[in-house]
Formats: sequence, structure tokens, C-alpha cells
Amino acid sequence: MKHLFFGGIHPKYNKEMSTQITTFHSITPKQVVIPMQQHIGAPCTPLVAVGDRVLRGQKIGDGEGLCVPVHASVSGTVVAIEPRPHTSGRLVNAIVIENDFQDATVALSGNDLPLEQLDSDEILHAVREAGIVGMGGAAFPGNVKALSAMGNVDTLIANACECEPYITADDSLLRTDPEHVLEGMQILKQVLKPNRAILAVEDNKAEAIAKVNSILKNYPGIELAVLPTRYPQGAEKQLIQALTKREVPPGQLPVSVGCAVFNVSTYAAIYRAVRLGMPLIQRIVTISGEAIAEPQNFIVRIGTPFHDLIEVAGGLHDKTERVISGGPMMGIAQSDLAVPVIKATNSILCLLKDQNGAAENPVCLRCGKCVSVCPMRLQPLYMYRFTNAGRVEELKRLNVLDCIECGSCAFTCPGKLPLVERFRKGKQMVREASAK
Ligand code: SF4
Ligand code: SF4
Repeated sequence: MKHLFFGGIHPKYNKEMSTQITTFHSITPKQVVIPMQQHIGAPCTPLVAVGDRVLRGQKIGDGEGLCVPVHASVSGTVVAIEPRPHTSGRLVNAIVIENDFQDATVALSGNDLPLEQLDSDEILHAVREAGIVGMGGAAFPGNVKALSAMGNVDTLIANACECEPYITADDSLLRTDPEHVLEGMQILKQVLKPNRAILAVEDNKAEAIAKVNSILKNYPGIELAVLPTRYPQGAEKQLIQALTKREVPPGQLPVSVGCAVFNVSTYAAIYRAVRLGMPLIQRIVTISGEAIAEPQNFIVRIGTPFHDLIEVAGGLHDKTERVISGGPMMGIAQSDLAVPVIKATNSILCLLKDQNGAAENPVCLRCGKCVSVCPMRLQPLYMYRFTNAGRVEELKRLNVLDCIECGSCAFTCPGKLPLVERFRKGKQMVREASAK
């Protein structure tokens, strides 16, 4: 069966680069830097002071409202609480812990009740207390997303598309711990009571598909959907369209069409939080690209500086042009490699050449290719023109805020226009005008 969504492209995926080394290496840094802002919403307030000893798994920051706590990923001593570079490009208040390499861990208490006896409120509380956010990049608090879906969705989706080139973190998770993902899905099924629960994966992940298929019979009510590989199928709205043929209207969320989508790493974190009592203190991170000596996947403590990971992966090529947090299409270029891995960091990409770089004198050829590939059915050439002209009303009319910054238009554009960069600016202009 063909599952389709509108638009999209086929970039060179380069996934095999980081799957040659099949065993995970763990890395234990001398210091971890735990930012107080790792999620969409309000930042955490530190709960510890400089000089305090902390245990692995201890809650060290929390806050009110749209906020989930952060935890120590190593045991040791708090040596600083101060603004530090963050993958967003900003300085963000962070707790710095000197590792004592003892891994002394807080007492963990999981819940081993049979699935049908698990209480929804207790599950959501455990998810919040574990600091779980969307680990595919969105970093929206998991408990809030699940709560807003309660009673409003008939379809629960696990997103393992991982459609960005180079990244294989979710693929690695499914190859090694598919049970954790499926257990996490069962737990959220218990909360949301959907009619369908679908684990969606693209067809370029043969080993992961085989692993899931070999155990799927143990998880009644969960389907595996193997989708033809196409970028950006892992974007929520495109995945929903591909699986259910439902289109999320402009400005709306998946819940408006009865769907809830969580990344597979998030499901595995939910399993560990509910069943083992383990907070979100580590994750799988792909380090890849032509500019790194030994591309592979690592199990990484949250707070590990990028330069530590790069060193363990054999170091950077002399001619490295870019280090990106995330993938080549939607990731953020980093200028300071002291930035730490945060909960949403799925990849560190090291490139010799900026593949999607704009031309020095870009010219629109009016070819319309950008329109034909835009998965949100937008009109990138006009959005570009109106952003440059500062015409906010036209940008609103063109639904610029619906742009998911997937980069499909820029990838296709023969004029090499800096489209996504301009759309970020255009969205900011619309938001500022609306706030007045
Ligand atoms: S693809 Fe590029 S050159 Fe072609 S119409 Fe769109 S912006 Fe212009
Ligand atoms: S970056 Fe925005 S405008 Fe360009 S293809 Fe993606 S959604 Fe469409």
C-alpha cells in the first residue's frame, strides 16, 4: 500500500555512514552542563546551589506552568550555575556538575502493575516528573501533549520516520530496544484509548523493521506501517496525511484531526519513566558527516559538551565547514562546540561543505519548483518576495506561520535563494505585528 503526502523531496540520505559501527559506545564526560531550558515553555529554576553534591537522576531544576524538570545525568558536585552557550544560539542559565565518576544514583521507583491497572493520572505524573519532552526535536512537554490528547484522538502514532539525512538515532533505538518503544506505546494507549496505534517507519530501515516485526505479536493492537522513504515525512502533519489521509488545517494541531504523534525515543523514555522510575538523563545521539573521523551512534548523558563527543568520535577534519545540531535540512549551525547535548539533540552533524548554502547573488527564476515540493502547500517564492519587501499582511495571507522550515524549497531552488532563513524572518515579522 502506498502512503503519500503532498510535496516532498528525495535528498541523498547518507544513513549508512553512522550505522557501520553497530555497537553503542557510552560516553561519560568530566563535566555536564544542564541547561534550565530544554523544552518549549517556561525555564526551570535551579533547585541546587554551587557546592552541593548531587546524585545521578536527582531533580535539579523545576518550574511552574508549561515546564518539566531537569535532572543530574551524573553524580558529583555543582561547580557553577550561570548562563552557558545553548544549541539555540542563545546563552541559557545552566547547572554545571563536576562528575565524580561514581554514578551514585537516586532511589528509583517504577510501577510494575499490569497495564490495565495503570492509572492515567499516575502515568502523566510519572512522565512529567521524569522531565520527558518530544525527543524528535520539538521538545514539547510530553505530559501536556498527552493530556491535551485525552478524549480527543482516535489514532496514536509513533514516529520512527527519521527522514532527515544522516540521522540514525531512532533507527538504532529500534534495532536495539524495540521493546522499550512498544511498551511505551502500550502505556500511552492506556491513557489515550485510541482506536488505532501505529508505529510508522520509512522503508530504508530494513533491520529495524525486521526487529519490530519479530516481536509485534506480543503487543496486540499496535500496527507497523512501512512508508516509502521521502522527506519530510517525519514532520507531524505530513506523517498524519501519509497514514490517515487527514490534513491538519493551517494553524491547527494534530489533535484537531484526532491524532497524537510522539517520537519513538519519547515512547522509550516514557517506558523507562513509568516502569523503571528513570528520568530522562540520557539519549541516543548520532554523530555523522564527512567531517568526523568515526561516524556512529552514542548513548550520551544529557549535558555532555559537543566537543567531548566529537573527540571520542575521532575528531574533526581540518577542513570542517559546519557543525550542526540536528540534520542538514532543519538543524541549527553551531559556532561554539562547548554547547551541551540536550533532551532534543538527536544528531551532531559535521560537514566539509554547507550543502544547502545560498548563492552570493541569488536570483528567482520563477520556475515554481519550490511550490511543487512544499509539503505545506505554501508559495515560497512569494513568501520570499514579501518578506524582503516587509509586507506583513501578504505574509499572513500566505500562511507563512505554517512553514515548518523543512528546507524542501531551498533544496530544490535552482536560484539558490536563502529561502528558509527569510521565512524565519517573515514569521518573526508576523508574530511581532500580531503582538502589537
Ligand atoms: S524554486 Fe527558487 S528560483 Fe524557482 S520559483 Fe522558487 S524561489 Fe524562484
Ligand atoms: S521550508 Fe517552508 S516554504 Fe519551504 S518547503 Fe518547507 S514548509 Fe514549504
